[in-house]
Amino acid sequence: MHVASVRANRLHGVGIVGLHMVYLIGGIIAVALLLIGALFLRPGAAAATEAPPHRRKIDREEESQAAEDAARREAELQEAANRIRDILDQLDEVMSASSARSDSTESTLAGAQERLRKADTSASLEAIREMLLSEIDHVLDNNRELANELRASRKIMRDQHDRLDSFRIAARIDPLTGVGNRAVFDEALKRFAGVADAARQPTSLIMIDIDHFKKLNDQYGHQVGDRVLSGVARLLKTRMRGRDVVSRYGGEEFGIFMPETVLAEAARVAEDLRAKVECTRFAIDDMKLSVTISLGVSQTLPGMSATAFLKQADDQLYRAKQEGRNRVRGYGI
Ligand code: GH3
Ligand code: MG
Ligand code: MG
Repeated sequence: MHVASVRANRLHGVGIVGLHMVYLIGGIIAVALLLIGALFLRPGAAAATEAPPHRRKIDREEESQAAEDAARREAELQEAANRIRDILDQLDEVMSASSARSDSTESTLAGAQERLRKADTSASLEAIREMLLSEIDHVLDNNRELANELRASRKIMRDQHDRLDSFRIAARIDPLTGVGNRAVFDEALKRFAGVADAARQPTSLIMIDIDHFKKLNDQYGHQVGDRVLSGVARLLKTRMRGRDVVSRYGGEEFGIFMPETVLAEAARVAEDLRAKVECTRFAIDDMKLSVTISLGVSQTLPGMSATAFLKQADDQLYRAKQEGRNRVRGYGI
């Protein structure tokens, strides 16, 4: 947990720092290009550094013009140096906050800053330019590493998230039958019974219990019983629509919640299920086994508690058992 949170904090830092670094590196590159332009691309600059012998004989007017040009270039270079210095200050601030701060970069930048402060000639600016360009390469490499690490960490986080989702789903599904487990049943009971406007949004509940299941286990063994149990669950699932919730209440007992469904309609669905189970032959090994189910139906009413909602369905299931099994019972049915 601790390691995870440290890593999360670090990732957060990297995200912000990475973004700032991209802007700052862009800024440095722009200013460095300006510097390069000022140093080499102006025609006067090339002439001043490599003047051929016949150009040395210049008249006074040309001489003062050249001096003016040189002064202007020097001013421009100084301005560029100031801008680089400002950017370096910002970059240094950002790198102070970065976990990827490299000592060598720090000292190089500090050195460059110091030299820029003292820089007074084109030659020293040229040396600094070289240093900065190589440092930009270095920082870009670091940034690439940060981006790769961020990408890898994002993938790890996404994988963890997916695993968490599958654990969450697994924790709610009954492994034998593939329907919702008891937690799903309890949650649905609370949710549907808690609907304030139960008169306009009624939910019906069908409680289902396999008849004489103990006998089947005794006769064919528990494993065969398991397969019949999951076969019955499969049949129950085939009849479900949109927001219906089918879950295993426990043992060989299931509950189906049918939102926005009145009792009579739920009883019709229950009867379909009963008939379907009755006429199904479960093929297990070389046997064809059949079972029946008993069903009790209830419907939420205004002010009805979750306990009363479940008890009513349970009472009706008990009635179905009492009246001979393999049948559907509900209040008034
Ligand atoms: P009734 O018609 O009254 O419901 O009779 P019954 O035999 O089905 O009811 P009873 O409550 O006496 O027995 C339930 C049986 O269901 C006993 C138990 O072994 C079996 N059972 C419960 N859960 C499982 C399960 O997961 N797998 C298997 N194979 N059997 C189970
Ligand atoms: Mg039972
Ligand atoms: Mg039973």
